[in-house]
Amino acid sequence: MQVRFWGTRGSIAKPGPSTIRYGGNTSCVEVRSAGGTLVVLDCGTGALALGADLMRRGTPLRGRLLISHTHWDHIQGLPFFAPLFVPGNEWDIYAPHGFLQSVREMLAGQMQHTYFPVDLGQLGATIRYHDLTEGELKIGDIEVTSRYLNHPALTLGYRLEVDGAAMAYCCDHEPHSRPLAYGSTEIGDQDHEHVAFVSGVDLLIHDAQYRAAEYEAKVGWGHSTLESVTTIAKLAGVKTLAFTHHDPGRDDHTLDREVAALKTDGLFNVFAAAEGQVIDITPAAGHPHHHQGDTPDAEVAEDPKLAEQSVLLGIVDPELHDEFWRALQADGVRARHAISRAAAVEAALAEPPSLIILERHLPGDGLATCRELRGLHDPALAGVPIIITAAQEEIGPGAAAGVTDWLLKPFSEIYARTRMRPWLMRMTCHWSQPPIPADEEQRLTALRNLAILDTEREDRFDRLTRIASATFGVPIAMVTLVDENRQWFKSACGLDIGETHRDISFCAHAIIERDVMVVPDALLDERFADHPAVIDGPRIRFYAGCPLVLDNGAAVGTLCLVDIRPRELGAGEIRLLEDLAALVLQELQRSADADGGGIL
Ligand SMILES: [Zn+2]
Ligand SMILES: [Zn+2]
Repeated sequence: MQVRFWGTRGSIAKPGPSTIRYGGNTSCVEVRSAGGTLVVLDCGTGALALGADLMRRGTPLRGRLLISHTHWDHIQGLPFFAPLFVPGNEWDIYAPHGFLQSVREMLAGQMQHTYFPVDLGQLGATIRYHDLTEGELKIGDIEVTSRYLNHPALTLGYRLEVDGAAMAYCCDHEPHSRPLAYGSTEIGDQDHEHVAFVSGVDLLIHDAQYRAAEYEAKVGWGHSTLESVTTIAKLAGVKTLAFTHHDPGRDDHTLDREVAALKTDGLFNVFAAAEGQVIDITPAAGHPHHHQGDTPDAEVAEDPKLAEQSVLLGIVDPELHDEFWRALQADGVRARHAISRAAAVEAALAEPPSLIILERHLPGDGLATCRELRGLHDPALAGVPIIITAAQEEIGPGAAAGVTDWLLKPFSEIYARTRMRPWLMRMTCHWSQPPIPADEEQRLTALRNLAILDTEREDRFDRLTRIASATFGVPIAMVTLVDENRQWFKSACGLDIGETHRDISFCAHAIIERDVMVVPDALLDERFADHPAVIDGPRIRFYAGCPLVLDNGAAVGTLCLVDIRPRELGAGEIRLLEDLAALVLQELQRSADADGGGIL
C-alpha cells in the first residue's frame, strides 16, 4: 500500500507561515493498493489538491471515498473534489449511517443552495452512496474493517488490509478512560477494544489533537492526546505511528518539540503527519502479493435493522411495482403486495408493516385506502408512515386522509431507495418510554406529601450532587423526582434545566428497578439507543441511577450520574452511590418531617 497525506490539520484549515511544513489543510489521505485500488480517507480541504492531482493522471477514474464522519473538517473538500464532476468516472462513497439520515442526505446537506451553488445531483460522475455500520467489507482488493470511535458524532475508524500489509485510520477519537488521555498506561475495556482494532498494523494514522496537559479543558470534545495515542500504539504493537488532526493552534515548531518529547521506548517509528508526505507500507515477508486488478466491491455491511422490516406495496402498475421491489431488495427489506384497497387493508391488519406505499390509482383509490387505514385507529398501525406515489401532489386531501408523504413520478430506483430508507429507519427506532410503576397512585401521593416539588434549589442537595459528580468523575449528577408527567430536578450539578418530560426520563426507568440501574453505554441499550437525549443534546452515553425509596416503600426519584462517554460502575462504586443516595433520602424525609409530615 502507498499512503499519501493531503490534509493533516484538525477542525479548521490553517494555512500560513506557521504551518507550512505540516500543512494547513484538513483531513484527507490517499491510499493505493499495489493492485490499483484507490481509496480516499476523508474529504477535508486537502481533497482539492488531491482532486487536481488525480485529474492530471487522466480519466476514467474509479475510486472509493471512505468518510469517517460528516463533521465539516472531514467533508468540506467534497464539493471541490474535481473527479466527482467528470462523467465516466465512478466513485463509491462510504460513511457511517446517520440516525435519521442517509449518507447521501448528509452530504447533500452541505451542498444545499444556502451553503453552496452546486448541488449533489449535479455531480457528473457515477456515484454510489453506502451507509456503513460496524463490520467488514471488501473494497477492490482491500479488506476493510470499520469500528465506531468515541466522538460526539457517529464516527467510524477504518482498518485496511491488503497484500499482507495493514493500516488503520482513526480520526476523530477520544480515549474512553480519562486517565489514558492524561498519559496513564492503565486502560479500560473499551480502550482495550480500540487497541485490538488497531493491533499489529504497519501504519496507524490517529487523531492526536491535544497534549495531555491541555486535556482538562477539552474533555468530551472527542479527540485524543499525543500521550494516549502513544500508549495505544505501544499496546497494539504498531510499527509506524502517524499523528494527525493537528490542532489549528499548533505551529510547526511546537509540533516538532512535542513529538520529540514523547517516550516511545524505541518500539516504533513515530512522527506528526505532514501534508505531501508519502509512506510505502511494505508487505511483511512470506505474504502473497496479489495483483487482482479492480474487482467489484463485495456486499457492504448495511444497517442490519432494516432486514427486520416489511413494506406493504399497494401498487398495480407493473413497472412501478418492480422499481420499488428492486429498491427494497437492495436494502434487504421484505416487500408484500396488495392489488386493491380491500386487499391492502386486510394485509395491513393481518401483519402491520413498517411502511405502506400506495399508488394513487390503486383500485379502490389510494387516497381512500389511506383514509380507511387511518380511520381504523389500530394502535399497531398508528405510527406507520403511508406514502402515496402519484404524478401530482394533492396537499389538502392528502393531509385530510393522513398521508405521511408523497413520492412524485417519475423517479429513479436509487431515489426511491434513498427516500424509503429514512422512513424505515424511523420505524426501527430503538428507545422505549418508561413503564408506569404498579403502585403509581400511592407513589405520587407519597411524592406530593414530601412537599418538595417546585421548591427552590437548596445547598443541602446541591452539595450532595457536587460530591457525587466529583467522586465519580461525571459531568452531571442530579437529584430527580418523577412526577406524574415530568421529572423534576431538585438539584442538577452540571445541567442547566429544571425538568424534562417523563417520557424521556431515564430515572423513570430506574424507579421501576429497586436496585441501582446502570446503563454502561446507552447506544448499546435497546431501551435508549435512539433516545432523544442520547442522539441529541446532552448526548448521554452512561447513566447510573439509585432509586430514592421512602420508608413507606414509594420510589419517588433517584440520585443519578450521567456521562457523555460510556463507562462501567464497579461493585464498590455502586455501594458508594447507594450511600450518597441514602444521604439524599435523609434530607428528603427531613423536609417532610419539618413540614409536619407533608401537606394537609
Ligand atoms: Zn475532525
Ligand atoms: Zn469530528
